[in-house]
Amino acid sequence: MGVTGTRGAPQRGDRPEEGSLELHDGLQGSIIEMHVHTNPASSDSMLDPHELITLAQDMGLTGVNMTEHDKVLESHQQKAFREQYPDFFINFGMEVSTDMGHMIAVGLPTYLQGIRKAAKLREELDRLGGYLIVAHPFRRLFDPVTAMRTGEKFELTPEQAAETMPVFKLVHAIEIGNGANTPQENYFAAEVAQILGIPGTGGSDAHSTSGIATFATGFEKHVTTPEEFLEELHGGRFEAIHRTREKRWVRLEQGSIEEATGSPD
Ligand SMILES: [Zn+2]
Ligand SMILES: [Zn+2]
Repeated sequence: MGVTGTRGAPQRGDRPEEGSLELHDGLQGSIIEMHVHTNPASSDSMLDPHELITLAQDMGLTGVNMTEHDKVLESHQQKAFREQYPDFFINFGMEVSTDMGHMIAVGLPTYLQGIRKAAKLREELDRLGGYLIVAHPFRRLFDPVTAMRTGEKFELTPEQAAETMPVFKLVHAIEIGNGANTPQENYFAAEVAQILGIPGTGGSDAHSTSGIATFATGFEKHVTTPEEFLEELHGGRFEAIHRTREKRWVRLEQGSIEEATGSPD
């Protein structure tokens, strides 16, 4: 992994005072939506795939990595879909439900037997030259309702989480910017990525038109093919970015989300 892989990782330390945080422009050679669900491939989504592409283009994204739940379009369907948008990069990834939580897998041609086990998923991806990202690893862990349900409060520090949670030993990258997460959940993941020195991605996790182009992954290079996409991922030449109210794409850093959206939380 290159040094650039951690370039966008947030700095440790206290959160700055409101309004005092300087936002930094993120990488924008490509701006790719890394995590999104469309209908009917993801039954919990209301987002039409064509609507997604149109909207993504309008919002200034340069590509999308579609991540349906445990599913990917057949290759002839992928081809037909891509042909309708020759100037826009479309990759067909997958969000796989595993024994270690949700994973964004890039490079699976189809759902493979046994990949519900995360270790097997990694093994298959290694065989295929694919790439593995753990999605929203801390979602709802800080929520009091979750604590009530599980009977225990999540009390790990980012250092302890980095050290003890086996999932982080298995993945190439961590999703540190997820549009369906709270800022706290995103910042915690970002700290873990920083501690481990592994790169972070961003995506909306949208299931409808709302939320698209809030979080994305910025790449150094202009990516146009699935092969290039994998090459840039493996090279670590990307970072998690998000969009400000002024439509600037900035690097995700501690405090940057509130600063960009102007909301306290
Ligand atoms: Zn998920
Ligand atoms: Zn998702």
